[in-house]
Amino acid sequence: QDPEVVKEITTLEETFFNLPEKFFLLDKIGEGTFSCVYTAVDLLRDHFDNRWESKMTETLSDPSVVAVKRIHVTSAPLRIANELEILATLSDSAHVARVITALRDGDQVLVVMQYVKHTDFRCIYRSGDMDLVRDYMVELLKGLQYCHDNGVIHRDIKPTNFLFNTETNRGVLVDFGLAEFWTAGGTCPCTSGGWEATYVNPQVQAGYRKDDPRPGRRANRAGTRGFRAPEVLFKCNAQTTKIDIWAAGVILLMFLSKRFPFFNSLDDSEAIVEVATIFGRVKMQKCALLHGCVFETTIPTIRESGHAFPQFLDWCNHIRRTPEEMMGSDETAAIDLLSKLLDPDFRTRPSARDALRHDFLTGRSR
Ligand code: ADP
Ligand code: MG
Repeated sequence: QDPEVVKEITTLEETFFNLPEKFFLLDKIGEGTFSCVYTAVDLLRDHFDNRWESKMTETLSDPSVVAVKRIHVTSAPLRIANELEILATLSDSAHVARVITALRDGDQVLVVMQYVKHTDFRCIYRSGDMDLVRDYMVELLKGLQYCHDNGVIHRDIKPTNFLFNTETNRGVLVDFGLAEFWTAGGTCPCTSGGWEATYVNPQVQAGYRKDDPRPGRRANRAGTRGFRAPEVLFKCNAQTTKIDIWAAGVILLMFLSKRFPFFNSLDDSEAIVEVATIFGRVKMQKCALLHGCVFETTIPTIRESGHAFPQFLDWCNHIRRTPEEMMGSDETAAIDLLSKLLDPDFRTRPSARDALRHDFLTGRSR
């Protein structure tokens, strides 16, 4: 074992009140932006009630092994409370990591969860196995359907926050640190149909202004770069559960293009350019207007109408097809689903429930 990890575990055991009586920490399994996660043996197994026994056996090899998430002490208490509240709300699904208990000692907070055995996304995204892609997406969208039905937007859908096990074909959502309850409202123009396509912004006509007097737009942009939906990039303040559907689309895009990460911009303006490179200027302008923004560009690689996904993905995969060479029906269906999940207009982007009825996911395209 890494001596640094041993030191870290020992320090935690020595400083956290009574911890060694309850949990025996085994190893560090993950480190995110806001926490460190360890495996541990639950020494007081009686937390488990029978209701969960059946669900646990599906995902756990040894039910006494748990995951202990140590939230960095720099996290705001309200944020931690929010994560716990949401996890408690979502406690009734095999698609969300179940919380066993939470412990606090001073500023230290530990969330003890069901341990979810999973396969690293980096080992599977290039396999090209369409059954695997289907199973993965079905599990992810079922998890999202459950969250969304309960009014929760996850906000940080990406491979490290969705733990998929290739042996059982089961997937579990984790990391509700940025999640929020959806609330109606917001002043974004999209709530009343967006701006007219003929709208000409006089401020834009004058060119880029350094001392722009207009107030800045504020919107929740929590999430991970590369996975943010266009409405987040355009600072919409009426964001919906559809932002998670976009992120699920980005994951499907990574499977189909065999590229991870796919989008790689450092900031939101660059991210808009990346998305525009695929979808083209016209669609991006329409999307911008929907959220009361104007999108103008002179970047030569951004075409008027963007790229069609089938050709674009062939290009990503270095495939040259003659007109007679057809794509398989599964691939065609997967690409159709991709184009629906990655709809820049959140209003026509499907819900998780609708997406689950798609031919690719029901297996009808096989
Ligand atoms: P952060 O907010 O720091 O990103 P996460 O909740 O995403 O924290 O956890 C970080 C990593 O720890 C995850 O990407 C995953 O690899 C691992 N992990 C988290 N929860 C579990 C769990 N219940 N079972 C197994 N591994 C987990
Ligand atoms: Mg995470």
